[in-house]
Amino acid sequence: MNKTIYIFFSFLFLFSIKSKAQDIFVSIFNDFKIKTVVVRPIHGKYEFVANNNCVLKIKKNNNIIYFTALGDSLSAWDLDNHLGVFKKIEIIEQSKNNSFRIQPAFPALNEREYQGGLFLSARENHLIIINKINLDKYVAGVVESECGPNAPFEYYKSQAIICRTYALGHLDRHVKEGFQLCDCVHCQVYKNRCCKNDSILLAVKQTQNLVIVDSSLNLIAATFHSNCGGQTMNSEDVWSSEKSYLKSVADTFCRNQVHSNWTDTISIKDWITYLDTTGFEITQNTFNKDSLTFIQEHRKKYYRINGDSILLTKIRSDFKLKSTFFSVYTKDNYLLLRGRGYGHGVGLCQEGAMQMARYGYSYSNIIRFYYRNVSIINYRNKKLIDIP
Ligand SMILES: [Zn+2]
Ligand SMILES: [Zn+2]
Repeated sequence: MNKTIYIFFSFLFLFSIKSKAQDIFVSIFNDFKIKTVVVRPIHGKYEFVANNNCVLKIKKNNNIIYFTALGDSLSAWDLDNHLGVFKKIEIIEQSKNNSFRIQPAFPALNEREYQGGLFLSARENHLIIINKINLDKYVAGVVESECGPNAPFEYYKSQAIICRTYALGHLDRHVKEGFQLCDCVHCQVYKNRCCKNDSILLAVKQTQNLVIVDSSLNLIAATFHSNCGGQTMNSEDVWSSEKSYLKSVADTFCRNQVHSNWTDTISIKDWITYLDTTGFEITQNTFNKDSLTFIQEHRKKYYRINGDSILLTKIRSDFKLKSTFFSVYTKDNYLLLRGRGYGHGVGLCQEGAMQMARYGYSYSNIIRFYYRNVSIINYRNKKLIDIP
């Protein structure tokens, strides 16, 4: 039977986090230059505040507000009136569990639904749209955006802890831009509030305040990817920075999954041209079709031929391949690439972790399988959560 042991740490945390309920500030539609958006409340009441004055009380069904960037200001209308031109606007929720929908009209993009509040401002004719959101609601939205609505419960719990760890470890990432995190892959994907699977909300609640730390009690860089192909990567082999907890592990759980295998082809002519441009010494004596063959039974860092080498991460990036874990065979006038996995391969393998959850492993087992020598702690009361 699982047993939770709480051990008080007697030394200082190396990260500081405020002890009250935490809101964070996330730039939404961050990868678009939005000129105009439409905002409408779905649940609850809001106040539209500018220059510390309430411009409008907003309720479901009676208000749709349009915001358009005008240089470094923004202009606002409801259905009847022009509400004014402002430098900054805050849309403040008046009760818990409010939600609103927001849809860019120029350019036209899909509508999204969020909870919490909104800060709007403008710079060079496009809007800066920031969602002020409770950390747990943000984590639930990220888990649904990153993992979809149909995964096992224990997997959602592990992913909730990972997303919380990442968020708290990167709150200063966009501080010069006036917010903390963006909604894109640069930080974590956050395309909507969590609304498709209540078990994600439960997973976030049951793991509330839990984060992953390394042996020095630093929040870890909790990286993850779709499928490792059977072996994860050392972080230093992908990003040059070594992390004691991001070490290669053999993973049999992600076999026979959606992204376990892939194939691709490249013409031999294009391949030779590519190698030539990347510094390989190409001569008729040193190159023949067979010499291009390259086998990876275990993950390698370099593609090597005749003493020349190139980073597999560069090949993956240049040819937009699903992974660096591929072998190369020649056939007629083209190369056949037989690959395994999808993504950078560092940290948690999502399809493997889902399979572990289906086999009955706990979120703690899953996290400690993919991240070496880490601990799970409650970041508010500084207690170690140790589930054997
Ligand atoms: Zn970002
Ligand atoms: Zn895997």
